[in-house]
Amino acid sequence: MQIDAGEFSHWLDDFVTTMKGKGQGNVPCGDCTGCCTSSKFILIRPNDIGAREVIPHDLLFSAPGLPAGYQLMGYDEQGHCPMFKHGQCSIYMERPETCRQYDCRVMAATQANTEVESTIIQQRIKTWEFRYQENDSQLKANAVLKAMTFIKQHELLFPMNYLPSMESQRAALAIRIHSLFLQPRNTWPSVSEFIKNIVSQYPTS
Ligand code: SF4
Ligand code: SF4
Repeated sequence: MQIDAGEFSHWLDDFVTTMKGKGQGNVPCGDCTGCCTSSKFILIRPNDIGAREVIPHDLLFSAPGLPAGYQLMGYDEQGHCPMFKHGQCSIYMERPETCRQYDCRVMAATQANTEVESTIIQQRIKTWEFRYQENDSQLKANAVLKAMTFIKQHELLFPMNYLPSMESQRAALAIRIHSLFLQPRNTWPSVSEFIKNIVSQYPTS
């Protein structure tokens, strides 16, 4: 059974807003709890003030490779987040930005490789079905796919450490840069110039 992922252009606008830390995240998860039960380390950022007030400090540890103030929360022996209690998030209103931003529809939109995801998340990704009723939805969906393909085909040409190693993060990058791919291919600059444009316009933090 397929699940309505929403009108593509609306979803894209919402997702970009959420990625900027301005939205709340509105994935129609229903009864799926994949994010909370799939052995994921949850990044807690310095600005996750509410989350820090409710998560016991002894559950957090420094995030390797990130500046002071960034921490990770692990998972229990079942792969469940320690804040997942009685079948749901026990700190939902104060959940960290990582959880607000995670949207498995991005993997469907980019046709990303899902093999490292848990079975429950893989199943959910397969069930999403976007709608393309508005004029710009198909155009933007194609641009997102072109961006993801471009990253895959030219990954060795990007500066070292620019591309994230995780497929889900590459999918999010493809969303960030998709507007550069709205123009016809014959108007693009050379591959090296195009990569320079991407890196300068969309720096990674
Ligand atoms: S895997 Fe997708 S549908 Fe399931 S909880 Fe996470 S974001 Fe929601
Ligand atoms: S903090 Fe809440 S939403 Fe985030 S992974 Fe844990 S239980 Fe799930």
